[in-house]
Amino acid sequence: MDVLSLAALVTLIALIVLLVLRAGDDLAMAESLPAVLAGLIASGLILLRQWKNGRNAERAARGTTAYRQHHDPVTQLLNADGFIEALGRQTQAPHGQDQSLVVVSVRLGRLRDIYDRLGDGCGDEVLRELSRRLVSAFGERSSVGRIGENMLAVFHPATGGIRQALVGGQINRLMDLPVATPVGEVVVPSTIGVNFIHAPGIAPRDAIRQARLANAAAQASGAAMAFFDDSLDHAQRLQMDLEVELRQALQTGDLQMVYQPQINETGATIAVEALMRWPHPTRGQISPSVFVPMAEAAGLGEALGRYAMDKAFADSKLWPGLRTAINVSPIQLRSPAFMSTVRTLLEKNAVKPNDFEFEITEGVVLEADAVVLQNLEHLRKMGFQIALDDFGTGYSSLSYLGRFPIDKIKIDQSFVTPLEERQDAAPIIKAISELASAVGLKILAEGVETRGQLEALRAQGCNQAQGYLIGRPMAASQIIEFQADAQGADHPQKAVAA
Ligand code: C2E
Ligand code: CA
Ligand code: CA
Repeated sequence: MDVLSLAALVTLIALIVLLVLRAGDDLAMAESLPAVLAGLIASGLILLRQWKNGRNAERAARGTTAYRQHHDPVTQLLNADGFIEALGRQTQAPHGQDQSLVVVSVRLGRLRDIYDRLGDGCGDEVLRELSRRLVSAFGERSSVGRIGENMLAVFHPATGGIRQALVGGQINRLMDLPVATPVGEVVVPSTIGVNFIHAPGIAPRDAIRQARLANAAAQASGAAMAFFDDSLDHAQRLQMDLEVELRQALQTGDLQMVYQPQINETGATIAVEALMRWPHPTRGQISPSVFVPMAEAAGLGEALGRYAMDKAFADSKLWPGLRTAINVSPIQLRSPAFMSTVRTLLEKNAVKPNDFEFEITEGVVLEADAVVLQNLEHLRKMGFQIALDDFGTGYSSLSYLGRFPIDKIKIDQSFVTPLEERQDAAPIIKAISELASAVGLKILAEGVETRGQLEALRAQGCNQAQGYLIGRPMAASQIIEFQADAQGADHPQKAVAA
């Protein structure tokens, strides 16, 4: 209680006591009654005012907390909870049932990068400017929120005007205009996911999830905008089912390894590449180009890599004298635990590094950080060879070739296929071969399918080859047979497909 309220209360009590004491004395009572009554009313009013003030202050404090709970502190837009509540009020309200709405998610690409480069103050300013643009683009009838670190969202009645602005790309263009900062202009490329809600009473979380799915679809296809439709929901459900099944397959050992032979200039088998297969019980063979990236997105990259290495180490004992190449993903190489996994598996399978090669991609080379470089150096010191896979498909920067710890490059199939069709294909192989030999690297061509391609490759100085002409990927047990058939012959064999 504050001092004023206390004084008023004391006065009030004193006056009541006075009234009680003078209750028997009519004369004294008559003399003092007006003053006592006035005192009583005044102190009563003061007490009432103080109580009201207190109540208002409490309400204001509660209001600020509620505001904070539902708003983003940087943009003052609704936050995720606030946006979900507001959207829920709209979709669940009786009048909202027949009003169609559009929910839009706007992903601000590179925002993290801008925060990192320009600092929090500048990043916040850029974010506020982009929020203002979105608010002004959608106008008064919309609600705008910040539902993720770099994700804004809007809902609005699905009017013809909004439809036109979205389809015509106006919103994208507005968001992509440069934003002025103290250090110059920055552009924050946006992707937009649009969800026209047709189902009345849809749960707000579902409506937002669908808008985000559309956004992810736009990102995946490199488009600036995508619209939600049911196929996206099915695709996401399929992806989730596959993830669960892949986890199981890893545990139950249902993923298989097959091996594809590599030959030298005499046609002798010198190595095999280990490739993973997922024979799915109901969906048939699933390609590693599908399930490897999926496993990585689901956080299973390291487990999958460990599985492949373990199997390949074990199987390799069937073909002493042949090297075994194993694909490793950037995720594995970036892991500080990678080297101890390698050592553990070498020991477990009682095999030696000299019999193995790890295949890495150009992406690994260009984004190599200290851990990756250290891991590669360690592997080579231990006796492993390193091959650069899919050479020529990535950034085609040759500057790293001499400096990077690699032993071999694998020319991608896209350079091999046109060898019999285009005049300019052979000189490229020749240039790569000369470059490789100048910096002391071995060279192998992938995806060799015809005799003509093999001959053209050899004529240009590329002597090692791998491809369907020589042999398809096959089960471990078939490699010995293949090796025996092909030994010393300059006639590559076609093996049975695994
Ligand atoms: P990659 O490492 O470039 O493997 C070569 C791919 O080309 C294999 O596809 C192989 O079957 C295919 N191929 C070989 N010769 C020919 C040919 O003459 N013609 C044609 N058209 N294709 C040929 P696959 O087995 O489907 O593997 C696809 C990709 O999946 C691999 O490409 C590799 O990047 C990845 N992958 C496979 N196994 C593993 C693994 O154990 N770990 C990791 N991280 N990635 C793997
Ligand atoms: Ca490979
Ligand atoms: Ca390759």
